[in-house]
Amino acid sequence: MQTVYGPIPSRRLGRSLGVDPIPLKTCNWNCIYCQLGRSTPLVNARDEYIPRETILAEIQATLAHHAPGEIDHISFVGSGEPTLHSGLGWMIRAVRQITTIPVAVITNGVLLHRADVRAELLAADIVMPTVSAGTAALYQRIHRPHPAATYVRLIDGLEAFRALYTGQLWVEVMLMREVNDSEDALLALAACCGASIPIRCTSSCPTVRPRSPG
Ligand code: SF4
Repeated sequence: MQTVYGPIPSRRLGRSLGVDPIPLKTCNWNCIYCQLGRSTPLVNARDEYIPRETILAEIQATLAHHAPGEIDHISFVGSGEPTLHSGLGWMIRAVRQITTIPVAVITNGVLLHRADVRAELLAADIVMPTVSAGTAALYQRIHRPHPAATYVRLIDGLEAFRALYTGQLWVEVMLMREVNDSEDALLALAACCGASIPIRCTSSCPTVRPRSPG
């Protein structure tokens, strides 16, 4: 299998079948904690990096080898940023037509400022964006983003998506010692997220493949 792996145990998503729809390290962030190394070059353009039909066929083939109940979630995650695949919405909808297993998307949230990406993610049962910085300066320091992936766009996109989305929105926070764990940084983060978004802390990147999806 090229794009599908697992199911593997996940703290958050149970037995999670991972779907990696993009080539290694295709990302619009270059996080200081990334387990995959540097993002060179930074990529912020959506594309059909792998044919969507190929990915769907691999999901179907994997599901055919598992009895009902053996997979708790199908998770679009990947070794980069999964929303960079221009067929993500098509794939989520296609998966939902072939199975009742809930679909999760683990994303850095950068592209949620785009209406097309927000519309595509509405079809997912769970969306898990990352918010680890409560200020633009800390955002730059932690994520070293593509120039178009600004902090304002990230927060605006999250707010716009939250206003539309009726599924489960789990904001994830990467806490790093002496980077974003001071009282000021945590207060800024809490203010940024707001009381209406549940925060689930993680100990490693939510979007890298070496660890379990979820
Ligand atoms: S940690 Fe995740 S979001 Fe950050 S650069 Fe690596 S793959 Fe991209």
